[in-house]
Amino acid sequence: MSTGEEFDVVVVGGGPSGSTVASFVAMQGHRVLLLEKESFPRYQIGESLLPATVHGICGLLGVSEEIERAGFMRKHGGTFRWGSSPEPWSFAFAISPRMAGPTSHAYQVERMKFDDILLKHSRKLGVEVREECSVVEVTEDEERVRGLVYTDSTGARHTVGARFVVDASGNKSRIHRDAGGDRIYSDFFRNIAIFGYFEGGKRLPAPRDGNIFCAAFDEGWFWYIPLSDRITSVGAVVSREFADSVQGDPADALSRLIAKCPRIDDMLADAERITEGVYGQVRVRKDYSYSNSRYWRPGMVLVGDAACFVDPVFSSGVHLATYSALLAARSINTVLAGDLGEDESFAEFEARYRHEYGLFYEFLVSFYDMNSDHESYFWQAKKVTAFAESELEAFVELVGGVASLDGTFVDAESARARFKHTAGELERSVSQVDRTRGDDSTPMYQSDIMGSVMEQGTQIQVQAVLGGDLDPEAALFPGGLVPSADGLRWAAAAE
Ligand code: FAD
Repeated sequence: MSTGEEFDVVVVGGGPSGSTVASFVAMQGHRVLLLEKESFPRYQIGESLLPATVHGICGLLGVSEEIERAGFMRKHGGTFRWGSSPEPWSFAFAISPRMAGPTSHAYQVERMKFDDILLKHSRKLGVEVREECSVVEVTEDEERVRGLVYTDSTGARHTVGARFVVDASGNKSRIHRDAGGDRIYSDFFRNIAIFGYFEGGKRLPAPRDGNIFCAAFDEGWFWYIPLSDRITSVGAVVSREFADSVQGDPADALSRLIAKCPRIDDMLADAERITEGVYGQVRVRKDYSYSNSRYWRPGMVLVGDAACFVDPVFSSGVHLATYSALLAARSINTVLAGDLGEDESFAEFEARYRHEYGLFYEFLVSFYDMNSDHESYFWQAKKVTAFAESELEAFVELVGGVASLDGTFVDAESARARFKHTAGELERSVSQVDRTRGDDSTPMYQSDIMGSVMEQGTQIQVQAVLGGDLDPEAALFPGGLVPSADGLRWAAAAE
């Protein structure tokens, strides 16, 4: 076994959370090693992104232009056959005056390409990236995690010492328990996803042809994501009570489910399922909705799916992954610079991360209530935001991530009030939030969830686009920290 290498930070996993945290730490001049089990590019699900990721995080990383040049399908909004309304309804990010222009879109991405761009960018920023290196365990003493052990492609074992180990190894993490907690699975989101890829699927009429299309049916809902003019990602998210529908050969099961959802069946009327190459397989995923009871301990932090994931609807996965990566990087950079202590810095990371996760969790519970129609969704959005313009615009402001730009309804005081509300909800823990399942389900936007959900993303986006905070950000809770001027560390809030 080789020993002796020392880094400031070792990141486990080269997905969006791993490459993002590695880059943000390397940008502050620290020595970062990233270990990735696979050889990139590698397949991953999670193809529909949010504007806050592609303009905000990618902007801060300095990789937006490269992402734009990659030619991914532009996502201008979403189209839903959802709730009690039989007809599809749509939203476009550009309806909001605040998103009109260069940040009015996100992308539908082939994750092989998107993740590869982010990982290569990490290399450019000075991260030492080693592929085909699988992390086996962490090394620790009574005080803290001190490093880890990995095997390389030849099977040789290596130990590495580091001030911080970041677990960004996703859903299949082997080391998340070393942060000292358990993975708590949701009782509400107990769905099964089955998905494949098609050639020749129809497109919604322009300008919605790049939209994600979500269509509910009796057993769950479908996503229909145009990845290019040719390829469409199609997946069914099936409630656990209909688990029998996903039994047997996955390709046959997917075909049967498509036949049960007329809207998707029609979109695929002239399409052929891809049967070769990386998109040739029909895949099944379950047990993906959970949150760890601890997100960090001295010397170790969890980001992305290693820490938590809610549900595919509304595309929160890569947003949470990259946003948590930024939060963790701020904490690591702060401690490595000697600005603040580890407890204080990581308490801020955990509070904001749980806040964001909790907002999505609560919002998505509400969205799964199919008894509302789209008008009431929009009306709820207007009510939540106290937005002065149309109800549709209020909804778009929320789901597009710019609600907090309007200081008249998202001032520091209301941000703090929202944080207190959702933090209170979270204290009752993920499993207790599940009590909302059933007849007493909260209607969508009953609480002011969505404004808060997007608030953080908007700050990041504004920071990236304008090169600094719109306004000095207020601490989200008493005694809490705020991002530094460059966005890469924490600082004490101004009095
Ligand atoms: P990952 O992308 O899983 O990356 C982890 C990396 O760690 C991998 O490259 C892996 O090879 C590596 N690794 C694992 N173990 C080790 C080890 N021991 N040593 C070294 N490396 C290791 N999100 C969206 O934003 N939009 C969507 O439309 C969407 N759809 C989804 C649909 C489904 C059915 C599911 C289940 C999820 C979906 N998601 C979506 C969520 C999205 O897939 C994840 O949130 C996202 O990939 C998390 O990124 P990550 O970097 O944390 O983990």
